[in-house]
Amino acid sequence: MTIWNLGSINADYFYRVPHLPAPGETILADAMERGLGGKGANMSVAAARSGAHVSHIGAVGPDGQWAIDRLTEYGVDTRPIAKLDAPTGHAVISLDAAGENAIIVYPGANRELAQDAIGLALTESSSGDLLLMQNETNGQAFAAETGSKLGLKVAYAAAPFSAEAVKAVLPYLDILVLNQIEMAQLVDETGLLPGPKMGVDTVIVTKGAEGCTLYDRANGWDAIGFDAILVDPVDTTGAGDTFTGYFLAGIDRGMSTDEAIGLAIKAAALMVTRQGTADVIPDLKEVLDWG
Ligand code: ATP
Repeated sequence: MTIWNLGSINADYFYRVPHLPAPGETILADAMERGLGGKGANMSVAAARSGAHVSHIGAVGPDGQWAIDRLTEYGVDTRPIAKLDAPTGHAVISLDAAGENAIIVYPGANRELAQDAIGLALTESSSGDLLLMQNETNGQAFAAETGSKLGLKVAYAAAPFSAEAVKAVLPYLDILVLNQIEMAQLVDETGLLPGPKMGVDTVIVTKGAEGCTLYDRANGWDAIGFDAILVDPVDTTGAGDTFTGYFLAGIDRGMSTDEAIGLAIKAAALMVTRQGTADVIPDLKEVLDWG
């Protein structure tokens, strides 16, 4: 089957700093690098490297052909990516010596994709395919409704968090992935907890080095904990995206939810030992051979 990922594509600019700047503080970076990023692109690369067939729905600007080429190189079908007259999205990422980060994202072309282009891409989908989305593009609610009507399983990673954005897609969701801060915000702003009222079959709350918690309809949405794999973190950027991409690829090829989470935890832990985003996401063989 195909994973249709409506997702952002960014140029990531990394700055290694002694510590994250405080308000009003100016600091010098020790090193700088550019790489492919954006939650959408990261998840597409993770799922493709895990062996899934991934079609990326998104947009770049006139300066974004390199990003399309990079995604193609990593095995992602880039035909549904539009080239628009807006700057390609980019992120400024500060990384401190402990691997902690602070990130500013400029969405640019990611938020300019026409609804028609999303609809057109999804006409190529088949019932049983997966639709994945995050909150760095526009058009999620339209895509979720369209995908759901076409018989696609709809998954959403609620980042960057917005309660409004979650509420707009909630009626169509089969899978919701969010970190514990995002979960706390969702509960705070909507009062919704995983369960019949939220109505999402599978909710996964990721907890960094603490692993994750699964709430699944099949288990009456009881909390089931999964431990992370202990590593010395180098850079936690992209851990969540790697987790989600690997998890969905596992579901796509028929793994049980538990098995897919186990694989996602391993891939995300290996990712945490590497600096960078899409360019360093491990492939399936590396993940299986590791540890
Ligand atoms: P990010 O935004 O940094 O990509 P996130 O906040 O979306 O991440 P996290 O909960 O930090 O997501 O991490 C996702 C998963 O990655 C965790 O459930 C865990 O399996 C793995 N992970 C994250 N940090 C670590 C770590 N320090 N050691 C081992 N595994 C980790």
